[in-house]
Parts: sequence; C-alpha cells; structure tokens
Amino acid sequence: MDHDHTANAHHAARPTCWTVVVPGPFFGGFTYHLEAGQTPPCPGARVRVPFGKSERVAVVIEAAEPDGQETRPIAAVLDPEPLLDDRTLACLRWAAAYYHHPLGEVVFAALPKALRGERELQVEALSLTESGRQALEDGAARGERQREALATLKDADDAVPATALAAAAVRRRLIEHGWAQIVSMTAPADWPSSSENDKTTAPALKNEQAVAVEAVAAGLARFGAWLLQGVTGSGKTEVYLALIEQVLESGRQVLVVVPEISLTPQLIQRFARRLDVVPAVLHSGLADGERLAAWRAVAAGKAQLVIGTRSAAFVPLPKAGLIVVDEEHDAALKQQEGFLYHARDVLVWRARQLDVPILLGSATPSLETLRHAWDGRYHHLHLTERATGAPMPNIHCLDIRAQPMEGGLSPALMRAIERHLLAGGQVMLYLNRRGYASSLVCHACGWVAGCPHCDAFLTWHRQAGRLRCHHCGFEQGVPADCPSCQAPLSVRGMGTEQLEDVLAARFPGFGIVRLDRDATAGKGVMAESLARVARGEARLVVGTQMLVKGHDFPGVSLVGVVNADQALFASDFRGPERFAQSLLQVAGRAGRAERPGEVLVQTHDPEHPVLRRLLSEDYEAVMAAELAEREQAELPPTRFAALVRADAPNGAAARAFLTRVADDLRERQGDELAVWGPVSAPLARRAGRYRFQLLLLARVRSVLHQALWQVDESVGSRRPGQGLRWSVDVDPIDLA
Ligand code: ADP
Ligand code: ZN
Ligand code: ZN
Repeated sequence: MDHDHTANAHHAARPTCWTVVVPGPFFGGFTYHLEAGQTPPCPGARVRVPFGKSERVAVVIEAAEPDGQETRPIAAVLDPEPLLDDRTLACLRWAAAYYHHPLGEVVFAALPKALRGERELQVEALSLTESGRQALEDGAARGERQREALATLKDADDAVPATALAAAAVRRRLIEHGWAQIVSMTAPADWPSSSENDKTTAPALKNEQAVAVEAVAAGLARFGAWLLQGVTGSGKTEVYLALIEQVLESGRQVLVVVPEISLTPQLIQRFARRLDVVPAVLHSGLADGERLAAWRAVAAGKAQLVIGTRSAAFVPLPKAGLIVVDEEHDAALKQQEGFLYHARDVLVWRARQLDVPILLGSATPSLETLRHAWDGRYHHLHLTERATGAPMPNIHCLDIRAQPMEGGLSPALMRAIERHLLAGGQVMLYLNRRGYASSLVCHACGWVAGCPHCDAFLTWHRQAGRLRCHHCGFEQGVPADCPSCQAPLSVRGMGTEQLEDVLAARFPGFGIVRLDRDATAGKGVMAESLARVARGEARLVVGTQMLVKGHDFPGVSLVGVVNADQALFASDFRGPERFAQSLLQVAGRAGRAERPGEVLVQTHDPEHPVLRRLLSEDYEAVMAAELAEREQAELPPTRFAALVRADAPNGAAARAFLTRVADDLRERQGDELAVWGPVSAPLARRAGRYRFQLLLLARVRSVLHQALWQVDESVGSRRPGQGLRWSVDVDPIDLA
C-alpha cells in the first residue's frame, strides 16, 4: 500500500493519526493518518477522508495513537481553524454519551447545514507586498484610492478580504503594480454592533421583578440554575432583558432559547430595540447562508446576543455570560426525531461547563424543573402578579354530560360566547385538533377512513378537499359515499375547521380567525391573522396549540376550552401535567386590567382531581400532587427513564428483537433496573413500519446508562438487518 511506503521512508516523522467522525449509525469514530507534508488539522475542523469506496466530509475529534492497525490517509484538511471549539466538542461528546446517540450524528447536527458538506469558508483576499510598502512610503502610489487601500493593508495585521478593501478596478491596479498579492483567507465572521434603531427604555421594575434581577445579577460570575416562575404577563421577559443588558455591557455573550413558535419577529424586535444590538437568530427556517453567517458570528464571539430555537443549544459561545431558556416546560424544546436531545437539559449542562448562570422561565414549569427547585438544587424565583395589573382570569368547568351539543359547543358555552361578543369582548376557543373532522365513518357498515400505512384515522380537511394522515403525510381525495357499501358517510370528532364553520354560521358578522398549522401555512398569513385580532376586526379566534404559545390577546375576555377530556384522558402519563400547563397558558393569554377574563372548560368529568385542584388551588399544588402520583407509580421524574424503540416492516421481527434485548437486560442487570415491555407503541404502525418499545426505569441514573451501554454493546449496530431500526430515547417526554 502506498502510505505504508511513505511511513517507512520517513521513519522519523511517523504519520500522526486522528480520530474523526462522520454522520451515520456508527458508535465510534474512525482513525486516519496524515501524510507527510500535510498541515495537521485541529480537533473541531473538517477534513475529507476516503470512506468505503467514496470520500466523505468528517470532523476531527482528537489525535489518536497509531495502534498498529492499517489506516487510510486524510485526503484534505478543509478548515485551517476549528469550527467547533474544545468546550463545544466536549459538550457534544457528553451529549452523545448521555443520549446514547452516534457521535458523528451529534457533531453534524451541531453544525449549520452549509458546513455539513465541503463548503469552504475561504475568500479571496489581498495582502501587502514589500514593494507595496515602499510605494506607500516613497509616494509612488499617486491615486488617492490606491493609497487608501495600501494604507488599509499596512494597518491590517493580516490579509484583507478583497471586496472589503476597494473597488475591483483599484485592486487590479495594485496587483498590476505588484504592490499587493492575492491570497486566500478564512472569511471573517462579521456582525453589526448596533441595531440602529431607537432604543426603547425599560419600565421601572416592579418589586418582584427587581428582586429576581438582583438575585441573579449577584451570581452572574458563576454557574447557578434559576427557575423564574411567573404567570403570563408577569414581566419575565423584562427580567431577562435587565439581566441581559448587564451581561452585554460586560462584553459577554447571552444565549436565549425559546420554543419554535414563540420565535416571532415581535420578540426579536423587542430584544433588538431594548438592547440596541442585532440579535443573531438561529432557527431551522432560515436560508442556509443566513444561518451560516449568524452561527459564525456567534462562534467567533462577534455577535453578543443569540436568540434561537432548540438547535441553537449547541452553538459555540466563546464569551458566554448567561443562558436563558424561555417556556422551559415546552415540549418543543425536545428534539423528537433523529438525535433526541432536550435543549433545556443540554443547556443546564453547558451552563455548568461554561460556569455561567442559566435562567429557566415559565408560567407553568415542568415537573422536572419544579422538583429541582423544591429540592433546592435550583434557585426559585416567583412573579405572582401581572405587570400590567390585570387580574388572572376565573376558571370554571362546564359539565357537558347529557347536554345537547351543537358543533361541539354546549348551550352554556354558546350563551357565554354571545354575552362576551355583545359586551364588546373577543372570544378565543381552544381545540387541539386541526382539520374538519378527525374521521369519516359509515354508520351502515362501520367503514372508517383509515391510513393504509399507519394505525390511524385520516383527518378530513374540508377546505383542501383531502383526507390526510397526520402521522405519515399520506393523503387522498374524499370519497362521495362509503367505498364498501355506498351508504352516505358521516363525520366523527371535531376539528378546528368545523368549529370555525359552526361559529361563523352562529355568530355572523363578528369576524373570525383560525390559527392552526393549516390556516397559517402561507408566508405572512400568521402575521396578518394576528393583526386582524389585534385590530379587533376578528372578534372570534379559533385555534390549536398555537394559541397556547407566544401570542398575547389582550382584548380577549372569554376563553373556551372545547374538549378538555382529550388531554385529561390521554394515555400518556404526562397527560395531567400537560393539561394543567395548556389550560393555564391559554388562560394567561387573555384579559387586561379593565376587563377580567373568564375561562370555561368543557368536560364530561368535572370531578376529575386535576381539574378540581386547578380550580381551587394553585399550579404548584397541582404539581405537588402529581409528583406524589409519579412517585407511587415509579415514573419520572422520580425515576430515570429511557425508551428503546424498534420498528420494522415485519412486526414479529421488531418484537422479537426487543424481547431479546429485554431478556438480556433482565438477566444481566439487577433489580435496580425495571424493564417494561416490549409493548406495541401507542401508534402501532406508522408509515408501513410496525413499532414496539421497551421502557427502562431506574432510581439511579448510572444504572440506566449501564443498561443502555449493554444494549449498544450486545447489538453492535443501530441497523442490525432485516430492515430493523432501533433507537434510544433518554428522558422521553412522551411514550408515543
Ligand atoms: P412575560 O414574559 O412574563 O409574559 P412580559 O415581560 O412580556 O411578561 O410583560 C408583559 C407586559 O407587561 C408587557 O407588555 C411588558 O411591556 C409589560 N411590563 C413588564 N414589566 C413591566 C413593568 N415593570 N412596568 C410596566 N409594564 C411592564
Ligand atoms: Zn359502508
Ligand atoms: Zn399514515
């Protein structure tokens, strides 16, 4: 082999070896060597390596000891400087181990898409030659613009990017004279230092806000986790802003992570104008180039304020000073596909690593975080009043048993809607199911429109005239009558489209806006809908989970929760927690000082303990009771949990695989580990694949991780053949 030859010839300079990772289902890294004469790469830089029969882009993790095994040479070093600094690499290695996910996948997920391939960060630049220096001194360069460019080159330590230096004609002249030469350099990461907006001034903080700011500010120099629990509108964002301002002034960086849906232009503007900075925004909806520019500016320490969604959790922060996670309870902070991490948990780890404080904000904190606060591991700050002085709305149940329902609405709710509309208020109706109807059924023969690839019903989208599967994306036309007996079809289960129709027919002329994924798909539609509500043109608002997050509707005086039972009786053990959070969040969106809000919750079970506690006690009391139930049932957060999921086109193969895994774990792990299953996943078939899962629970985290390592080791690959795929979900947030 060629490279052996080289190695022997230059015995003194043995090729150094490097461990690199590539994306794919591989647990470890791969070792390559460097041929003599190549500049060694840095950990965190990209290289191109031969891989199988082709070449791939890889990221260097660390230097490796040559272990006598034959290695292949690195084909090219793509980055002269690392893209990921040491601390970020350490975090990614921790995350890969903690979430039992292949390191290559984790590392590549942390890079902006534009850098996952070979895209170079090199630009054409000019540097001063000796005769250029002369020309500047003895005045040989006459043209003013030429002299200016030469002076710039002289002042710069390094080369200067061509386009930043001078017009093309001037540059050509410099090169013709031999005063400057073309070199290539890593494109500098630039970021504007001021927003050039008029700076808005902060309101005088209320007492509770000031207490919170002071407490966190006193600990800015070191790690500390702070839970800022404050009802919606209590001024949590003002607390963030006051602290961020201090950190920015000290020249350090702040990372703010929010759920996807709350990352609105309004939020970004609010930060930009208050702090007089241009925030670097990082989210998946950006064009690759925009994202790359923002990411690099942050990684270079140039952009001081970063606002992003969960994937921003891994951006390098060379000058970190503070981390903020808003809506820390929100399930959108957990990545649900591929590399399954929870941004909040990753950031708590990072804050500790970077030795900076982390501020977790929510009106309805997760049980996990509350428990840490109750145990004293996190500091607990409260904002109990709305900053605007508006009282919290009153919540009442509507017992809908045996009520004549009209389009999902009880007579009592109808009357309340009418009353509020006539009194000049706005009304918001929350129903967490989009589409027109959840299914089409035949009462004559029992036929139901189901997805051919999933164990799920097709949702009827009437406006689009389609039946759609919300799990795999399958869609088809709507049959005119029953395909099996030709009887007319009827609808079952109501969606937001139908609710909109019912309200439009019953309350014409009041204007109605629907907020769900279908209704807001087009660019700018969402903003326009929100504006119609804000201007009072739409007095009725219908929506899904989208209503719960991010937007305030101060003119809304009545909130109707159309179907509470959907959440109360969810099969997932987190159902009650989710319900309490959604209800309080949706309630918190409404009402202002002069018009206290009213919240009406339709249910078939008004005696449900969670509902009763929510009506009579506060959120923390509900959560304390919930924690006791979880302890009883030996479920998270009182136990550490992981799901091992497997799916295959052949159900028996998936089940047999997990049975083997379960038997092996039961045999080799002690009583410390509880193994539940395998059982069918709640959605037993999805996109033509049969899904099974195994739930592992342990009191001690290390027991759980040991078990997962054992599984990795004994199975060896995430793709063990027969079309079988398996994955691990550590700290699963739902069991679906
Ligand atoms: P949260 O983030 O808790 O929902 P915000 O910080 O967005 O609350 O504040 C809600 C509203 O109250 C905003 O319009 C904000 O400008 C206003 N506000 C916040 N703090 C104060 C204060 N100290 N004085 C006056 N208005 C305030
Ligand atoms: Zn039929
Ligand atoms: Zn489907």
